[in-house]
Amino acid sequence: MRDFIPIAKPVIGDEEIAAVEDVLRSGMLTQGESVRKFEDAFSSYIGTKNCIAVSNGTTALDLALKALGLQAGDEVITPAFTFIATANCALYQGQKPVFADVDPKTFNIDPEDLKERITTRTRAVIGVHLYGQPFDLKAVQQICEDHSLALIEDCAQAHGAEFEGRKVGSFGTGCFSFYPTKNMTTGEGGTITTDDDALAARLRLLRNHGDTGKYNHVMLGYNYRMTNIQGAIGLVQLRRLEDFNARRIKNAEFLTGHISVDGLTTPFRASGVRHVYNQYVVRVEDDLHAKRERLMEYLQAKGIGAAVHYPRPVYEQPLYRELGYDNVRCPISEEVSRRVLSLPVHPSLRQEDLEYIAETVNSFEA
Ligand SMILES: *Cc1c(COP(=O)(O)O)cnc(C)c1O
Repeated sequence: MRDFIPIAKPVIGDEEIAAVEDVLRSGMLTQGESVRKFEDAFSSYIGTKNCIAVSNGTTALDLALKALGLQAGDEVITPAFTFIATANCALYQGQKPVFADVDPKTFNIDPEDLKERITTRTRAVIGVHLYGQPFDLKAVQQICEDHSLALIEDCAQAHGAEFEGRKVGSFGTGCFSFYPTKNMTTGEGGTITTDDDALAARLRLLRNHGDTGKYNHVMLGYNYRMTNIQGAIGLVQLRRLEDFNARRIKNAEFLTGHISVDGLTTPFRASGVRHVYNQYVVRVEDDLHAKRERLMEYLQAKGIGAAVHYPRPVYEQPLYRELGYDNVRCPISEEVSRRVLSLPVHPSLRQEDLEYIAETVNSFEA
């Protein structure tokens, strides 16, 4: 029997282990020198003046909305087809997530539909660079400027992705996650990137109980700090990120070059972007919506960890049903959530794994 090929796998080596050991031996466990070094390295990688490290990607999004000054009742537009955290961060402080539909090929927010969802109460847009592919930043940035809306980029799946030669996270307020399935990891962890110094100062205060130092608390803040343990892992992982991404891209290109089955569409890459393939997602064309499930089960039975990201639009989740989102319609999000299937693309795949994945997919008989 061959080993099961998981859908995601963090790459942790001796360097990360040594870095953690150093922190543990130093006794300086929480936010300190390692976190500061990680923030400096991360902001110079992304190309922003500031980087604020936090406890995870969800708290990054939550803090970004708080620091941007959004109020209860304000509307925040997010794509309907994303991980639930993108929308939930608006709920945390009594704002209203409003869902926009996505493009059927890139699975990213559709700028035309986004425009339709703007009301007098809209204050911010959270775009998501889903699966590692940048959304149309040019169009979305223009819409935000025209309507005076804050732009937040959910970069949780897109460390190192580029739009027209510039890293994502440097266009709006960037929010990153370092959960183990992402392009780089710190176990749990997150960062916010921004060129706005005043915003960065508010973020730093909000992250740590509004403390300006020596127990002087000037605002209601939180404990959203990153630990030195995470910061030390992040420093090593960031050095390895370009290699991880290059391998993801190479793996994706191999799969696209070798998968060929009727009714199955390999990922579309928009022009002018660097897609970093946090997920490699194919579309299974099928009007009855049963073939995707059959293909997933077939692959799993053959030892390939195929998975669905995500099985329904956020507004169809029980939580959102309960909140009264029954009448929301984003037809493309509904369609793609029933057709997408993620195949393993992570950096530890060997050539024989890639060949096996392509062959097995090709052997599927609908
Ligand atoms: C992972 C992820 C998040 C949340 O990050 P956590 O670190 O798990 O809190 C938010 N948005 C998207 C699109 C994600 O993939």
